[in-house]
Amino acid sequence: MSGYRFVNHAAGPAGMTLCGRARAGVQVVVPGSDMEVTCKTCERAQVAAQGLEYIRNAYGVPATVGRRVEFDGRPGVITGGRSGRLVVLLDGDEAAGNYHPIWHMCYLKRGGEVH
Ligand SMILES: [Zn+2]
Repeated sequence: MSGYRFVNHAAGPAGMTLCGRARAGVQVVVPGSDMEVTCKTCERAQVAAQGLEYIRNAYGVPATVGRRVEFDGRPGVITGGRSGRLVVLLDGDEAAGNYHPIWHMCYLKRGGEVH
């Protein structure tokens, strides 16, 4: 008709999609099927999660989206992983940058102490 297509979301944790919608009422890609994730937000989240999984395995660090870190004493938050580099938004910066996962990088626990 008008070219409308369903947006396919990626499944996230606990009944949510990766982009934060409730899974009820939206189309979610079934793992192992040939459906493609077409939600851009879900796609980005998936790529970021895969990038971080690689970094966790390669460096043995607790890199996850939303994890607080300190680069050279500057606090920030992990927003993703790309090509073996952490994508970190340092507090006060307007844009995220790429950082080496272990070079001058500290991973903070919830209470703020260093990993
Ligand atoms: Zn989505």
